[in-house]
Amino acid sequence: MIELQRGDITKMEVDAIVNAANSSLLGGGGVDGAIHRAGGKAILDECMAIRNRQGGCPTGEAVITTGGNLPARYVIHTVGPVWNGGNKNEESLLASAYQNSLKLATANQIKTIAFPNISTGIYHFPKQKAAEIAVKTVKDFLAASDVVEKVIFVCYDEENFKIYERVIGG
Ligand code: ADP
Repeated sequence: MIELQRGDITKMEVDAIVNAANSSLLGGGGVDGAIHRAGGKAILDECMAIRNRQGGCPTGEAVITTGGNLPARYVIHTVGPVWNGGNKNEESLLASAYQNSLKLATANQIKTIAFPNISTGIYHFPKQKAAEIAVKTVKDFLAASDVVEKVIFVCYDEENFKIYERVIGG
């Protein structure tokens, strides 16, 4: 099942929320900053441990930590691509970020998961194209999934919310 909400992903009462992280896993601006602020130090501690073990997280991949003080039990940190004109494999890397987040959710028995609009902030991925990729990738995954039951797209900005209404509706 797919749902759409307007709001702040840090408030979501789900098994896992997804963070649009950067490869360093050391936190940043946008949704990443909001998640670390609301979730507290436990999240950054686990990110640092992962970084020490494997040297960060490559674009298109995902790692999992505690949700710390968040209502969500886990945070799945994925790294979306920076938009660089469209000829740098951006579209398939964005699909991979969604897929690898959902695979990690499956491996951790996560039933409900909320995604932000990965790469559409500081990374400047075109919003319409990003929404089409996100919705198609999630729909395809859910059709074959017997672990993840519900995916909620949480749109922080009005523009993304309107785009998602159309993309999910049609
Ligand atoms: P990226 O670097 O992947 O572009 P950003 O954090 O800059 O990541 O933006 C990704 C999306 O997250 C943007 O659409 C932005 O509006 C949204 N966003 C920012 N803060 C929040 C929040 N608290 N909850 C949900 N989405 C958020």
